[in-house]
Parts: sequence; structure tokens; C-alpha cells
Amino acid sequence: IKYTYMFGAGQTEGKSDMRNLLGGKGANLAEMANLNIPVPPGFSITTEACTHYLANKGLTDEMHKEILAAVDKLEKTTGKKLGDNADPLLVSVRSGARISMPGMMDTVLNLGLNDVSVEGLSSKTGNPRFAYDCYRRFISMFGDVVLDIEFNKFEKALEAQKKKSGVESDTDLSVEDLKEVIAASKKIVKDEKGFDFPQNPEEQLFMAINAVFDSWNSQRAITYRKINNIPGDWGTAVNVQSMVYGNMGDNSGTGVAFTRNPSTGENKFFGEYLINAQGEDVVAGIRTPSEISTLEKKIPDAYKQLIDICQTLEKHFKDMQDIEFTIEEGKLYMLQTRSGKRTAKSATKIAVDMVDEGLIDKKTAVTRVTPAQIDQLLHPMIDPSCKQDVIAKGLPASPGAAVGKVVFTPEDAEKMVGKGEKVILVRTETSPEDIGGMYVAEGVLTVRGGMTSHAAVVGRGMGKPCVVGCGDITISEAEDNKFYVGDLVINELDFITIDGSTGCVILGEMPLIPPEISKEIEVLLGWADEIRDLGVRTNADTPEDAQKALDLGAEGIGLCRTEHMFFEENRIPVVRDMILSETKEERQKFLDKLLPMQREDFTQILRVMQGKPVTIRYLDPPLHEFLPKVYELKEDLEALKQKNAPKAEIEKVEKIIDRVVNLHELNPMLGHRGCRLGITYPEIYNMQTRAIFEAACRLHKEGITVKPEIMIPLVGHVRELEITKKDVVETAQKVMDECGVKIDYTVGTMIELPRATMTADKIAAEADFFSFGTNDLTQTTFGFSRDDVAKFIPLYIEEGILPEDPFVAIDQEGVGELMRIGVEKGKSTKPDLKMGICGEHGGEPSSIRFAYNLGLNYVSCSPYRVPIARLVAAQAKL
Ligand code: PEP
Ligand code: MG
Repeated sequence: IKYTYMFGAGQTEGKSDMRNLLGGKGANLAEMANLNIPVPPGFSITTEACTHYLANKGLTDEMHKEILAAVDKLEKTTGKKLGDNADPLLVSVRSGARISMPGMMDTVLNLGLNDVSVEGLSSKTGNPRFAYDCYRRFISMFGDVVLDIEFNKFEKALEAQKKKSGVESDTDLSVEDLKEVIAASKKIVKDEKGFDFPQNPEEQLFMAINAVFDSWNSQRAITYRKINNIPGDWGTAVNVQSMVYGNMGDNSGTGVAFTRNPSTGENKFFGEYLINAQGEDVVAGIRTPSEISTLEKKIPDAYKQLIDICQTLEKHFKDMQDIEFTIEEGKLYMLQTRSGKRTAKSATKIAVDMVDEGLIDKKTAVTRVTPAQIDQLLHPMIDPSCKQDVIAKGLPASPGAAVGKVVFTPEDAEKMVGKGEKVILVRTETSPEDIGGMYVAEGVLTVRGGMTSHAAVVGRGMGKPCVVGCGDITISEAEDNKFYVGDLVINELDFITIDGSTGCVILGEMPLIPPEISKEIEVLLGWADEIRDLGVRTNADTPEDAQKALDLGAEGIGLCRTEHMFFEENRIPVVRDMILSETKEERQKFLDKLLPMQREDFTQILRVMQGKPVTIRYLDPPLHEFLPKVYELKEDLEALKQKNAPKAEIEKVEKIIDRVVNLHELNPMLGHRGCRLGITYPEIYNMQTRAIFEAACRLHKEGITVKPEIMIPLVGHVRELEITKKDVVETAQKVMDECGVKIDYTVGTMIELPRATMTADKIAAEADFFSFGTNDLTQTTFGFSRDDVAKFIPLYIEEGILPEDPFVAIDQEGVGELMRIGVEKGKSTKPDLKMGICGEHGGEPSSIRFAYNLGLNYVSCSPYRVPIARLVAAQAKL
């Protein structure tokens, strides 16, 4: 097996499609070298070496030998030697997994320096300040990453020296100052570890390589992988690369940039840099960097070359790139390129622009936006009609507005969210240790750092509203439970709102409103519509929701839950009277009152939908859901007795209590609900049929096309459908005859019980369509009560018993298997039977893919998930 691959200086062995082996960084360094872009030479140690290392608990002799051979080659190309006292080869050691894990793995720069070679570097470069700056950086990075000493300790030594020498900035420290920092840093190592800072460069190198491999299994890497579903057995590569120096003076510098704007997608170079600085300074948020375009004036030739390289990279990779570069005494080097993380807004704009520019085709464009990004676009913004009490302003790092209670630590964030609170995580700056807290927070606010700081990059990746570099606020070191804006004090658990699109921090809880869909998204989703075969409908019970869903691209209503119409304030008393009726005649009287109300509902919805199919599901829930609670009734009764109400009134309440007690069920979800209601009280379903057809006939006469699809819930036996359907057909015919109109309609059923899936061939004989009710099907397949799962599902997921909540993503091997049987059996009776899914899973990406692969005709989901479904339906086919 080959464990190392050279890159740069005309010896490149890898290329960009070898990312699984070389990691993203290594593969792209090789690719840049292949494109003749200036890359400091080096080599990648493969991810395979990492997995062997972890299994073997160390490097094998073979790997060790091969790494030394690679060092040898590198020495030959650079003409410098590791450990040479006069002109030492210095290297960086950096991790690089298959996909970028920002900030998760650590970097060591300037490796190879020691007490002697630092002097060699100093005289060779004629720049002692630079040499000692490199050495003190190396000791602190190595101490932190490899020796696991708190970085803060080294920072404090540096700060102490700055104070002692009376200077503001690191770059103002003199050689003598730096020597003192070095002595102090070495003492920290000795005190913490009990041994001297290693002086042998080869030993330094192997310690660093081991540390990178070990960091694959650090807690923060594991957390990141868990959140992002990255398999633990991928491993990381290590890149050993000869150093170039951005800290050699004012003609040197280092920066991070994006070839297009990662927030807005604007086709304009975007980034930040620092003059006379090295590597991590820009992203660490320690010094505030300058905006990239100002580099043109400072180091014009390098800037121009940088712009050219960006164009080359975009043309080559056909995507927006996120780059790192260093300028050493006017000469530009590229240290990294990768597809840039971006906001949803940016992703869609870039995808659409790149089609216009001829860089990619429409299909590729559709794969460039993730469902999570579409979701991000559906993030709320602050209601613009409300007055905002803006107390501070930072950089708008990740769009969307968020409201929550202030917390200052990731631990507190997780704790509060566990209690059901919404929080905003406020930090001086974030680091990878904060990931867990950032993930659960509604939004993140930091005091320091630029647009490419950790908080900004991670926030955008998560689609989490984020404001960074908000220097207006101060977090007091002494008191960890408040922050200040001038004289204003904001305490822990006070409400604030942050706006990641403007950078504003607002006092209090602002009302948020849903976002608008941009032109680019419409274009992109339009392409998705051209590609996909899977239909996308919506679950909507009101004309408003139906309209919203239409605006978002729904092609029909897949589920109109009629019970929601009965919960309105002026209807619920009638519904209650209907339920409490003791005779059929009495019940009919109240149903007659409900009829015009229900007819009006259907008229409005069918009108809005303008001829698109509307699946109307008949009354489904257990009746007691409409009734008052017994204890409430008893309170009413007490009150009546207290005020000596007339006997008749008291008796009426007593009778109601009796009835409610009588209707009580032990397992209402498995009780008197669904088509069982329609069979025991056919007059209820008949009223619904009449309401639908009266509405349909009226609209038909107005010249509006209507397409009602009647859907019977909770059918487990074909006879249940036969009986209810017969009534529907009879009543529908009666109404159509009365109106002298003929309406095209269908009668189908929900498939939401295991028995229905197993007997789907028989049920299909009676059904015009199937709609899988995956909520109830999940409930009845697992035997999990929908309303009580919160008590144990989190533990199930934590323990790995279930990979995720089956009420969120379809359990493909269990519930999904029943669906597969249902589809197969249904089609065996009616090959063209139309089928869809209307459970909550209809808007969840993995479930949508599953529905497509099962051969369903459509998914139906809540209005705001319609765009996600349109996109995923197209992606599923590609
Ligand atoms: C279902 O069970 O999946 C469904 C859509 O119906 P409801 O959620 O109303 O029970
Ligand atoms: Mg159901």
C-alpha cells in the first residue's frame, strides 16, 4: 500500500478525484499543482494511513519509513533539510478529511524550529523578528495541538509580554520581547508536561502527525460528525507542506477568501486578509482583518494574480471556491481551495448565475442547493413594521432572524434548550468546542472575529442566524452572567433578537415573519419542476394555507383535514351538541347547522385551488377531542351551584358530564375514530359529502373547475371502505341531481394501518387512490403512541436503538416495508392506482426519496416544505 503522495514542484502524484484517499485539502492541493498554480510543495499522508494508525494504535514501521522517504524527497525539491541549523526546512502539518470539517482538526505551523535552527532562520532571512515570531508561534501551536496544553496559557504569556513592553499589537514586539515569550512558553511546556519542549525536528514531525490522526477521535470531531452524519471510519489525511511565510513584513500577508460572496452569491471576490501575519490569525478572530479589495493597493501584483487564479479555479472546479493564500515578500502561494460553504441565498444565486454563464447545466444547478438550504430560506425575518430597539451592530454573518434568551456557554445553551427554552448563544468568539451549543441555539452572537471566523463559517453551514464581530458589546470577564452595551446591562436569560442579515442586535423579543422567495429560487425550483416526476401537493385545511402552498408551488391538496374546521370558536358549541346528541334526529339537527359552515369552507378552498386536485379527508379524530374536559365541566357545575342557578341549567351540565364520561376511551387513538365514526354515525359523513358537492356544484355553475377527491380515513378492512363509499356515491349523486350538475370526483382511502397495507389488493378494488398516512402507520406499526413518544424516543436515539425519530423520517425497513407491500398489492389489482403520502414525512428529504423510489405519484406536505419537496423530488431522480 502507498501511504504518501507528493504534491507541488512538478512531482504531483494526486488529483482532485482522489479526495477519499488524500482528503479534500490534499486532493485539491494536488489539483492546483497540476493546474500550475503556485503551491508550496509537500505531501499528503492518506486517510488509509489514518485508519491503519487508529486500528494499530500507532504508525507501523512501513508507514514510518514511507513518511521519512517523503520527507527526503521534499528536502531534495526545496533544497533545505529538516533539522538543518543554518537553513532549516520548516513545514506545516494540517489535517484534511474527505469533506471539510471547519476548525475541527488542528494545524501546526513552522514545525522544524528549535533553539538552534531559529538562529539559522534568522541569519538566513536576515529577519530575526520574523524568525523568533515563527518560533514562539510554533511552540504555542505545538503545545496546544500536540501536547494538549490549553492555548490560553500561551496567549496569556504573549499578552503579559505586550503589557510589559507597552505595545498594542503582536507585530510591535521586539526580538528581545519575543525571546522572552519563547522562554515563557517553553517554561509552560516544562511545567505542564514535565519534559522539555522537543528539539528534534523529526520527533516533532511524528508527534504532530500522530496528533492529527488522534484528533479524528477527539470529542469535538465526534460531535461534528454526529451532527453532520459523517461516518467515523473515514479517517483524516495529514498534509505536510513546506512553509511559506506571511509574517515576513509589510510585503507579506495571509488571507481567506471566496470567489463569490458566500452570503449573497454576488459574483464578486469576497474575503479578508492580514498584512504581516501567519495562517490562523485571520480565522482565529484575534486581529480584525481587512477587506480583500484593499489588498490591490497594498500588494498589487499578488492581488492581480490572485484574481486570475480564482477565475482559473472556478472554471476548473465549476463551483464557487473558498481559498486560503499566503503572500511571502510579494510572492503569492495558494494553500487551499475547496467548494465554499454558503448560505441558501448564495447557493441559489450562484447555481442560477453559473447556468447563465455556461459553467454548469440545469441539472447540476439543481443538485447545488441542499434541502437544508431551502429550509434556511424559509427562515423567519423580523416583522419590518415593528419598531426595533437596536442596541448594537456587528457583521451579518449568517442570515435570518432569531429570538431567544441570552446564554453565555454552550453547556447552558444545551441545558436551557433541553428545558424547552429558545436561546441565543453569546460568546467572545466561538471555537469548535462550542459546536454543540451553537447547534441547539436559535442564533449566535460573537464579540470578535470577521466574516470568515469560526462562528460565521459554522453558522452559515448550519443555516443558523449569526452576528459576529460585534465590538459594541463587552462581556465582562469577572461576571459571567451579563454583557454590556455602553451603560446598558443585558443579563443572562434576558430576551434578545439578532438579525443575521443586517448584523443588528435588538433588545427583547421581536415578532418574526416568514421570508419571501427570491427570483433565483423560483428559477431553480422551476428547473426542479422540469426534472422531477414525483408530484408535490400540500396539507392545507384553510384557504389561506392553500394559497400559501400554491404560491410555493404546490400542485394540489393531498390532505385537507376537515376536523380542523370544526375547532373554530363559533362552531365548537354546535359540534359539541352534535356529539352529545342522544338520537339520530337530534344529531341531524346539529349537523344541519354545520352543513352551511362546512359548505362555505369547501367553496373557499376549492375556489382557491382552481381545478387542482383537492383531497378532502373525512372526520377522523376521536370525538372526545372536541369535548370539554370533565374537570372543567365540574368547575362550571360548582359555579352554577354556588350562584343558585336554575335546576334545569344544573341538570344540563350534569348530563353533559355523564355523556363526556361515557365517551371517554382508554386508547382513543385506537378507539372510536376514523371511518368507524362514519360507519356508526353515517349522517356525519353524509353531511360532509353534501357540503362538498353543494360547494362543487355551485363553483361549477360559476365556471370554475373543481376536482374533489374524497378520502376515507383509518380503513383497515375493505368492507369499511365499501360501506362508507356507497354512502358517498349515493349522497353525491343526490346533490348533483338536485343541482343538475355533474362533477368529476374520486373516492379513495388512507392507508395508515398495517392491515390496510397487507390487504391492499382487496382495498384497491374499492379505491380510486391510496394515500399513505405515515403518521398513523408509524404509530400502529411500532405500537408507539404518537402523543407520548417524547418520553422515550430521545433516549432511543441517544442509545442508538433507532437512528432517528420515526415520526420525522420514515423507518424504511419497518414502516417502509409495509408501504412497499401496500404499493405492490395495490398495483396487483389496479396497475394504474394513484398513490401518495400525506403523513408529516411528506416534507422530509429522506422520506421523499423513499417515496420516489417506491414509485408513488406524489408527496403532500405542509406549505412551507413544498419548495423542499420540489427540490428533493428532482434530486431523487438525478
Ligand atoms: C397520518 O396518519 O399520517 C395522517 C396524515 O393523518 P393524521 O395525521 O391526521 O392522523
Ligand atoms: Mg392518520
